[in-house]
Amino acid sequence: MSKSPIYLIVIHYSEIALKGNNRKFFENLLINNIRKHISHLKHSSITHHESRILVNDIVINDWEFFKNCLSNVMGLKNFILMIKCKSDIEALKSAAVQLIGKKNFKNFRITARRNYKKLTFTSQDANIIVGEFVQKKFKKPVNLNHPDLNIHLELLKDFSLIGSEKINGFSGLPANCQEKALSLISSGIDSPVASFEMIKRGVIVDYIHFHSYPAINKQSISNVKKILNVLSNHQLKSTLYLAPLLSIQEKIMEIIPDKYWVIFFRRYMIKIANDIALKNRYVALITGDSIGQVASQTLSNIRAISDVSDLPIIRPLSGLNKEDIVNKAEIISTYNISIEPYEDCCSFFVPPHPETKAKMDIINRLDKTLKIDEIYNKTLKNIEIQKFKYRGESK
Ligand code: ATP
Ligand code: MG
Repeated sequence: MSKSPIYLIVIHYSEIALKGNNRKFFENLLINNIRKHISHLKHSSITHHESRILVNDIVINDWEFFKNCLSNVMGLKNFILMIKCKSDIEALKSAAVQLIGKKNFKNFRITARRNYKKLTFTSQDANIIVGEFVQKKFKKPVNLNHPDLNIHLELLKDFSLIGSEKINGFSGLPANCQEKALSLISSGIDSPVASFEMIKRGVIVDYIHFHSYPAINKQSISNVKKILNVLSNHQLKSTLYLAPLLSIQEKIMEIIPDKYWVIFFRRYMIKIANDIALKNRYVALITGDSIGQVASQTLSNIRAISDVSDLPIIRPLSGLNKEDIVNKAEIISTYNISIEPYEDCCSFFVPPHPETKAKMDIINRLDKTLKIDEIYNKTLKNIEIQKFKYRGESK
């Protein structure tokens, strides 16, 4: 009787492999992140082997849970559930039988990759020999272009691997490999996606949300919290600063002509975000602006808003179309939260004809008339802080 198969998950990463001297740092961080994401699931070890990361000896019934957890880990190109066997053709044939088991499929192909060039057979030999074997044994045809079942073989030095369930990751860099940035998050569609894109590049992202309670209800706050629970699946932990903007908005609406309100609301968001950031060692801000999407996102208005910032403002969605942003929001599961009804602190007070081409001299002159220091300092004092943590994919 054949022994029961040894199942493991084989993880491939892409961009990290291009790193030079500090490649080890990125690999170790990636392994550490993987360890945290799957700590509650049974496996014997996580090892690094010939440019792959292996999650060894998993229980096959846990595969669905591993799938959900590993899909969230940043820096993975893909991962495959595989069976381990010796690096010889006969062992590969037996492992193919174990892998296919009672699987239902119409046609198949073998996709072999030889890592260890000194093996006595090439990847093409493996494709042909194992392919013919499967064809005869299971009486199914080969289909190279659109196979129902794609059987991957990885031919390594010490052992080989065979598997068919390949899941694509988000690629990018391991979460938390860069410095800290503060993301201005509304509960709209765009800023969660912008934050996600930066987590994907390894930036340590924390958040600031501005609300106008009690003039409007707390729905935007509760939506943002739900969004941060989703984003915590990728970064594992984060901090949210909740800033009450209402008194500043009231002062702006009292003094400034209405067509400039939104620009001034945004300038004060950016000013407050700068203060929080500089105090807490964040080195950049992030927003979900996309050029031309709304009046406050024309180039002139972006200039008028950015003018108050000492820190660089990263706008990962600048050049994306709304459709692409919506698609991404769906993929990362923030879309359904973002479309829950809420009153936004700015759109609630939006005038009918906002300025689309703010002039800096006018903005600077108006700013001098505001005399807002006392209200501003009070707002800073009233900022609340909340922590978010990965809650794990429960079994
Ligand atoms: P979003 O969908 O992210 O709200 P939007 O298309 O609605 O974006 P705006 O509302 O003009 O655009 O906001 C532009 C950017 O300003 C947002 O992406 C976000 O980074 C920031 N922002 C807007 N409102 C808030 C808020 N209440 N709290 C924090 N940041 C905000
Ligand atoms: Mg918005």
